[in-house]
Amino acid sequence: MSFSSNAVIAHRGAFKKNNFPENSIASLQEAIRLGCTGSEFDVRMTADSVLVISHDPIHDGLAIESSTYEALKKLPLKNGEELPTLKQYLLAGKKNNSTTRLVLEIKPSPAGKERGQLIAEKVVEMVRQCGVERITEYISFDFAILKKVQSLQPSALTHYLNGEKSPDEIKKEGISGIDYNISVYRKNPDWIKQAKALGLILNVWTVNDPDQLDWCINQSFDFITTNEPEYLLERLKK
Ligand code: MG
Repeated sequence: MSFSSNAVIAHRGAFKKNNFPENSIASLQEAIRLGCTGSEFDVRMTADSVLVISHDPIHDGLAIESSTYEALKKLPLKNGEELPTLKQYLLAGKKNNSTTRLVLEIKPSPAGKERGQLIAEKVVEMVRQCGVERITEYISFDFAILKKVQSLQPSALTHYLNGEKSPDEIKKEGISGIDYNISVYRKNPDWIKQAKALGLILNVWTVNDPDQLDWCINQSFDFITTNEPEYLLERLKK
């Protein structure tokens, strides 16, 4: 495995251009086909403890955390896929993939911090079971979830999303990188330099506008998370 040297992380997979559902296996496979350095996706857990891929807490009218997987999978994605389980997703992400990191976001649980910790535990176990530790990186808005991942798999790369912690704080906590909204870096331009000086990995989300993408390229972010991976890949070639 040698990851692509471009900075492109496809946000919820490469879904937009081909009208694939966000977070579908089709969008993950397309990100791999394009050779993106990463493909991002969101993980939640059902009432019967099945880890599934969904950005929203509600899937087609059903609350994921209070529904069984049996009930949820009767409601397919718009391309006919069943709501993917994390296991299916990771196995698909392993197949014919020599370029693309699996950027796994653990969503904070609507039921609270404690369930978030349990989800983190189950996710790390599933990543291990599927044999994808070396290509998986973790992101979360919930700092305690990242700390849990770190304690369970010290080699894991972890990136914090929420944007209120300085690079110094992140470094002290042993988290690998900051992955903040572009507005956070615009407000705190020094954080870009500080993060680099501290050896943190520097990510930014979710940048789609051509001028903003150019700004991120000029700032030499390690990774740029975007809904427009095709455009950004082309732009980086120039
Ligand atoms: Mg996400």
